[in-house]
Amino acid sequence: GDYNQKIDYVFKVVLIGDSAVGKTQLLARFTRNAFNVDSKATIGVEFQTKTLIIDNKTVKAQIWDTAGQERYRAVTSAYYRGAVGAMLVYDMTKRQSFDHMARWLEELRGHADKNIVIMLIGNKCDLASLRAVPTEDGEEFAQRENLFFMETSALESTNVETCFLTILTEIYKIN
Ligand code: GDP
Ligand code: MG
Repeated sequence: GDYNQKIDYVFKVVLIGDSAVGKTQLLARFTRNAFNVDSKATIGVEFQTKTLIIDNKTVKAQIWDTAGQERYRAVTSAYYRGAVGAMLVYDMTKRQSFDHMARWLEELRGHADKNIVIMLIGNKCDLASLRAVPTEDGEEFAQRENLFFMETSALESTNVETCFLTILTEIYKIN
């Protein structure tokens, strides 16, 4: 076990975006094979951790998931406090969830540290025939707002590991 494992870094990453875009499933997918996962429920929020090695350092990712607080401005500032990364998730089959990304980003930038690493995620890429947001729209928004961007499927496990590793590696680089 890793009971006595030395942790070099703890990185808080927050998941945000509309309800039902797949935030909780992305987190479950990423942490499923973890060798060190704990879960902690607090008032209205929950996080899970996964410990991984980046550049020979032991990094503990503490990933926060909203619990039914997805209504506009319902996420409290405590949720964002101390976050060094954020994943802005939309459902590529629901145009509205993409159109709301600008608001989520505005709210995030209003609360978070200015050096926060942000990744835009278009989830549910397995539902190709229902796609309502072209890849280029995601790319364009991400480029304009200086975000990393990836399309994922929590269901099929597409790019899930990659998106978390990418954001954590970028966070590691600047911390
Ligand atoms: P949250 O409210 O953002 O946490 O969304 P959930 O993770 O609870 O997912 C909402 C719904 O979308 C559930 O029915 C999930 O099974 C489904 N879902 C999540 N991710 C995917 C995905 O990648 N593909 C498909 N087809 N369904 C997904
Ligand atoms: Mg959820």
